[in-house]
Amino acid sequence: MTGDAGVKALKLPRDSGSPLVCVRNVAKFYRTGAEEIHALDGVSFDIASGEFLSIMGASGSGKSTLMNLLGALDRPSKGVLEIGGESIGEMAPDDLADLRNRTIGFVFQQFNLLKRTSALENVKLPIIYARNRPEDMTEAAVKQLQRVGLGDRMSHHPSQLSGGQQQRVAIARALVNQPMILLADEPTGALDSETSRDIMKLFTELNDQGVTVIIVTHENEIADWTDRVIRLRDGRIVEDQRRTEKLHVVS
Ligand code: ADP
Ligand code: MG
Repeated sequence: MTGDAGVKALKLPRDSGSPLVCVRNVAKFYRTGAEEIHALDGVSFDIASGEFLSIMGASGSGKSTLMNLLGALDRPSKGVLEIGGESIGEMAPDDLADLRNRTIGFVFQQFNLLKRTSALENVKLPIIYARNRPEDMTEAAVKQLQRVGLGDRMSHHPSQLSGGQQQRVAIARALVNQPMILLADEPTGALDSETSRDIMKLFTELNDQGVTVIIVTHENEIADWTDRVIRLRDGRIVEDQRRTEKLHVVS
């Protein structure tokens, strides 16, 4: 581990008018044996700070590949992808990890919680990875658990929580480093429809509070909650549509 002195300051685009995420002619190729798979085949779009966006498409259309790039988990084979003004294609792995830990919160379909530890300890983990070391990590974790409505479940282990509650813990964990972007891959894929609505309400509230939310889904019912839908087919964008009116309003 290096000290904080080695961490590059992010050029925050929040007030500069430049987009939070800039994607230009991005392609991702995978080679399996003799075959080259074009998982993404030249996509371009911007995401502004504060957007609530869904990325849709059938299985195999490139959603997870795109999410891995937007989450700085992977670098493009071609094209330019900037997050917070920094081009990830040129970043050393350590810088990429720093960018990721400090700017992006991940939410997954299967929650990905540590099973043998409490909700509170699960939420504290990213603070340790990001080397943020606030005076009191517990305070930061408690605050996020309260924010997602789990102030009374902090010492529960995942097995003592419902699926919806586990996903809330995962969302609190994703929020604990105060990321610029919340990135969720099929976050309701393991939940029943009523619980899915509760989780989408929570994402809507977080977006109202200023969090940029990007949700990857193949379900229209989920995409209907978001303000903008990017649709992929065979690694290309076939639609990028903004809604003029919200279909779901959370009061
Ligand atoms: P989606 O999330 O929309 O289902 P993916 O992004 O997972 O789609 O996959 C897009 C295409 O890339 C698929 O054809 C998939 O088989 C292929 N693919 C994804 N990841 C890899 C990999 N690591 N190696 C080889 N092919 C991959
Ligand atoms: Mg996928």
